[in-house]
Amino acid sequence: MIVRVRVVIMIVLALWCSTGHSRQAIGQPTPNPAHQSTSRTRAMLLGTGTPNAEPDRAGAALAIVVNRRAYLVDCGPGIVRRTVAVHEAGIDALHVEKLTHVFITHLHTDHTLGYPELILMPWVLGRKVPLEAYGPPGLAEMTKHILEAYEQDVRTRLNGLEPANAAGHQVKVHEIEPGLIYQDGNVRVTAFPVRHGAWRHAYGFRFDTADRSIVVSGDTVPSPRLVEQAKGCDVLVHEVYSQSAFAQRPPEWQRYHAGSHTSTVQLAEIARQVQPKLLVLTHQLLWGSTPEEMLAEIKQSYDGDVRYGRDLDVY
Ligand SMILES: [Zn+2]
Ligand SMILES: [Zn+2]
Repeated sequence: MIVRVRVVIMIVLALWCSTGHSRQAIGQPTPNPAHQSTSRTRAMLLGTGTPNAEPDRAGAALAIVVNRRAYLVDCGPGIVRRTVAVHEAGIDALHVEKLTHVFITHLHTDHTLGYPELILMPWVLGRKVPLEAYGPPGLAEMTKHILEAYEQDVRTRLNGLEPANAAGHQVKVHEIEPGLIYQDGNVRVTAFPVRHGAWRHAYGFRFDTADRSIVVSGDTVPSPRLVEQAKGCDVLVHEVYSQSAFAQRPPEWQRYHAGSHTSTVQLAEIARQVQPKLLVLTHQLLWGSTPEEMLAEIKQSYDGDVRYGRDLDVY
């Protein structure tokens, strides 16, 4: 499996430079540095996984990359190794020392088990500035407990023989409310509330840059707020589950999923309303169905451009 994943990484990471909305193969092991000078904004899927621990899908995470900077969304397990894979394919924005901004949709484990990774691993590998973490109420408490849990490690690194800087393990937490939550010379980030089971705070994000608008659903049932925010966007990255496989699920799980996630049939309706230039599926719950069947379920009632997202795809 490890060999297969490495092969997939080498193949898929070639996609950086093509135009249009196709999935881009970063195909050559050493991408042309000229490709990095473009300001064209990209969405890179770092992990498309769900709570089901599938070996070839990392936990939920993606990067919006613009002007050699990366803005991470969510931090599922395995996020840092995925960013290193992208960096080793020649994408400087994902250099471990540049992993400084993360936007967290909600605090479910499949979106945050990589949060300790993102706080500590880049620091160990040389990040010199605190991580800026944006997310729902509760993020500050989670951060505090993570740092307490690793207090011995941090102290040992700071006081022992391992070279370590004094700031890279720190976190500046920004607990957010809906609206504009972040802005710099590259990007404006807007948070909007979505409904996701019993979570009091769950968000989707819209990223606006000079050349593109990219909307990330987070985990959500069909959301009027998302439709409002995403209308006419360039790329809509949306979670989804298979409607046909859902019908075979036990009633208690059907109840949960119907109140927490979005089916293929529902997503087709959302896409008809939003009319994104490109729809990318992520966080796919297949339950024994196949990617082809999932795409077919959507295409039954949506004829726009839709792609089945996989780890390390670039759009
Ligand atoms: Zn999830
Ligand atoms: Zn969730």
